[in-house]
Amino acid sequence: MCGRDPGGRADGYRLSPSLEREGGTTENGGKETRRPAETPIPGWGVMQGHQDLFAKAFGYTRARTARAEGWYPYFRAIESGAGAEVTIEGRRVIMIGSNNYLGLTQHPYVIEKAQKAIAEYGTGCTGSRFLNGNLALHEELEDRLARFMDKPACLVFSTGYQTNLGTIDALAGRHDRVLTDSMNHASIFDASRLSFAKSHKFRHNDLTDLERLLQDDDGSGGTLVVTDGVFSMEGDLADLEGIVRLRRHYSFRLMIDDAHGVGVMGPRGRGTAEHFGVEDSADLIMGTFSKSLASIGGFIAAEPEVIDFVKHHSRALIFSASPPPSAVAAVIAALDIIEAEPERRRMLWENVEKMRSGFQEIGLDTGPSVTPVIPLLIGEEEDTFYFWNALFEAGIFTNPIVPPAVPPGRCLLRTSYMATHTPEMLDHVLEVVAAVAEHASASRATAASAR
Ligand code: PMP
Repeated sequence: MCGRDPGGRADGYRLSPSLEREGGTTENGGKETRRPAETPIPGWGVMQGHQDLFAKAFGYTRARTARAEGWYPYFRAIESGAGAEVTIEGRRVIMIGSNNYLGLTQHPYVIEKAQKAIAEYGTGCTGSRFLNGNLALHEELEDRLARFMDKPACLVFSTGYQTNLGTIDALAGRHDRVLTDSMNHASIFDASRLSFAKSHKFRHNDLTDLERLLQDDDGSGGTLVVTDGVFSMEGDLADLEGIVRLRRHYSFRLMIDDAHGVGVMGPRGRGTAEHFGVEDSADLIMGTFSKSLASIGGFIAAEPEVIDFVKHHSRALIFSASPPPSAVAAVIAALDIIEAEPERRRMLWENVEKMRSGFQEIGLDTGPSVTPVIPLLIGEEEDTFYFWNALFEAGIFTNPIVPPAVPPGRCLLRTSYMATHTPEMLDHVLEVVAAVAEHASASRATAASAR
């Protein structure tokens, strides 16, 4: 009975004293509020009284059940740095589930520069860039990124998520339209909602569907087409050449979320637009620091007037503290390395091709991936969690991806590679994956014959 409140619920929740006393109505800011009937709370019995805001939380048992059954795959605490191998629950585990594509989070030069920035500037900025949190270091990074991306101007935000939120919200208003690929990152959908613009999804990489939306323009506002450069779940690329061709017939601005492309794609690592040779047609290129750039934060690169407008209208920038000096200095250091050591990208791509062909030889479906994000398409949720758990038990960390991040029936294990994975690590991964896949298909065959 520990923690049980006599007369209350097992979790200690009590109705407010006034509700209990008045048995049906209460004073609430001077207004009388009627209590609906009893509220059933799944897993917690029935609560007498008013609708509890937390009912959904108390009724949410899925994660608890998975934890109790020992296969809960999320929020795993990593006890070491984010390298090619990590420590989880005291065990060394090969990490094929991070976005540390160039392996720079552990690079001594990046660490040294981040430490120096802490010594010079301290640990945080304690305010937004708009008012009191704008360091010379932020502006140095913006200049550096603008040069790296070969764009005239750049603006740095505290996260990649906020970059999308802040850019789209600032630029698209009530009369404008935001057209987004259905497989875009969640932050783009959230941004469209926040902006009050009319938001429409086009079918994934389907230019006919996009064209249908472009034709359906009443001319009352501007149009922003937003697409991921590299799609983060299945590792395929946007058809940027096709989208750019549509500009011959339709008027719109193009924004590319290149969170997974910067540092990875293109001859100089400038991303997917560079890969396709369409940089001049990309009006807005967004990137994050939480992947190849080994830190946290994000940026948008564009014309100076556009950057200036976003700077003065972006709620996610103006009302949130700026990224800390160590994070900013780490990005500058990562850019130094990306420019000085193009061989890192070559090492990454060698690893990627080895794994893609290795998985295909095992007979696994790697979907449309042509990038360092390689999904193993499994199908059903249950099979996906089974596969995830078997790999984790064998010392390999992947990410199980289930709806709503992917359509139902298209669950997958998201794997992704680093320049710093060794051939031995990757050979071991292929061996283990082959054994687990074989075991899973044997179990399925047994289950089918028993039916
Ligand atoms: N865009 C894409 C395509 C992403 O994959 C992510 C993060 N996974 C973001 C934006 C958000 O970036 P961040 O995690 O740096 O906030």
